[in-house]
Amino acid sequence: AAEEGFDVEDVEGAIEEAGHGPLPVLAVIGRPNVGKSTLVNRIIGRREAVVEDRPGVTRDRVTYEAEWSGRRFKLVDTGGWEQDVLGIDASVAAQAEYAIEAADAVVFVVDATVGATDTDEAVVRLLRKAGKPVVLCANKVDGPSGEADATALWSLGLGEPHPISALHGRGTGDMLDAVLEALPEAPEQTFGTAIGGPRRIALIGRPNVGKSSLLNKVANEDRVVVNELAGTTRDPVDELIELGGVTWKFVDTAGIRKRVHLQQGADYYASLRTAAAVEKAEVAVILIDASESISVQDQRIVTMAVEAGRAIVVAYNKWDTLDEERRYYLEREIETELAQVAWAPRVNVSAATGRHMEKLVPAIETALAGWETRVPTGRLNAFLGEIVASHPHPVRGGKQPRILFGTQAGTKPPRFVFFASGFIEAGYRRFLERRLREEFGFEGTPIHVSVRVRE
Ligand code: GDP
Ligand code: GDP
Repeated sequence: AAEEGFDVEDVEGAIEEAGHGPLPVLAVIGRPNVGKSTLVNRIIGRREAVVEDRPGVTRDRVTYEAEWSGRRFKLVDTGGWEQDVLGIDASVAAQAEYAIEAADAVVFVVDATVGATDTDEAVVRLLRKAGKPVVLCANKVDGPSGEADATALWSLGLGEPHPISALHGRGTGDMLDAVLEALPEAPEQTFGTAIGGPRRIALIGRPNVGKSSLLNKVANEDRVVVNELAGTTRDPVDELIELGGVTWKFVDTAGIRKRVHLQQGADYYASLRTAAAVEKAEVAVILIDASESISVQDQRIVTMAVEAGRAIVVAYNKWDTLDEERRYYLEREIETELAQVAWAPRVNVSAATGRHMEKLVPAIETALAGWETRVPTGRLNAFLGEIVASHPHPVRGGKQPRILFGTQAGTKPPRFVFFASGFIEAGYRRFLERRLREEFGFEGTPIHVSVRVRE
């Protein structure tokens, strides 16, 4: 590194930063109007604007990346929930249920000016059962006179209430320090207890694509379990299912099986559920209804899984219903609408007839293998050397920026850092990513490439 003009410490820092594994997840929960969205916006700060720059991901986005005191984490925002969908208690419970499941720690927001309500008490019971670390926020304490209201929330039995004003920022720094203490370094859900255990699969897709049918097919059950919402918190959310001689953990299956008929707010609920499942999983099997046009909602779900950095398999369901014409158009749609996951293994299945169910496991294994691929530094640099020699970066302003060397900083998914002598254009970066895939495979996995430029 030194002879190429890079400071060794800078290089090590860049590798460490790029190589971070999956981030721990913090969920912000509470009744409507207690100030969850205000708090989330405060924590995200300016980053939010960056995130929402992208079209199509704004409206039902529920997870954000955030940073405090140099530590990065994911934030699950449940503020988009509409209170009148299921009735207040049921909706808060459902929202909290998914958010808590997906989280490594929880921020529970209570409106200190109102005090603890019955709904708050119900959430406390859910939190106790889940046993996850909780930071209790007494919000809307805009000045010293509100402190007494905060103290009253000791009665919830969740420990110290942190008086904050999400609106003005009062107390939020101290509260976030407490959050960092509660939050594990790495997401335990996926990479702590699960090491050596069954691999985790999230079966996702928009309503009616056939998730429940597929789950029942692979679990060899003929009957869909219909649950009343009131009973949902007692249901097992993850199910062990044996496929191809291997035991897999299908996460958040209770959400798939339960039939809650929602009108208003259903999209948000579905998004939260999908985000929760994706966070808990290593691989996402994205189900697409092949009998219908690929929709913006399908694309959003794909984007969610890609951005979360999960291994991905795309399964086109209801294949039994396809005629030749639909097949023709489907292929065109896949090319144009799902180009962002052109690298994902594909299976054409029918949950109704069982068609190609046996191809699911090999596809999942392929995606997981891609996700865990590590390219030895020597091989990577030999490859980079060849590329730079045969396809140099275009000359700009009399200079020719060069990739000098690179390394793989992490896996799950593969993350690379390349070190360059000058600014590398987006087109050339895309070219490098394409060649990386051609050379090393990475089937079924997103890859990240970051470029550091020598000062
Ligand atoms: P959510 O439904 O829990 O996401 O709540 P919102 O973030 O939408 O906030 C509900 C209302 O409470 C809005 O009018 C906010 O401006 C207000 N609010 C949020 N935090 C505070 C606060 O710290 N102090 C005061 N006075 N109002 C707040
Ligand atoms: P979910 O909302 O994604 O869980 O979807 P469901 O499993 O409830 O399926 C929605 C509808 O599609 C039901 O009427 C299923 O019977 C039907 N369906 C699911 N898979 C298939 C399939 O492979 N072929 C056909 N023809 N229908 C299917």
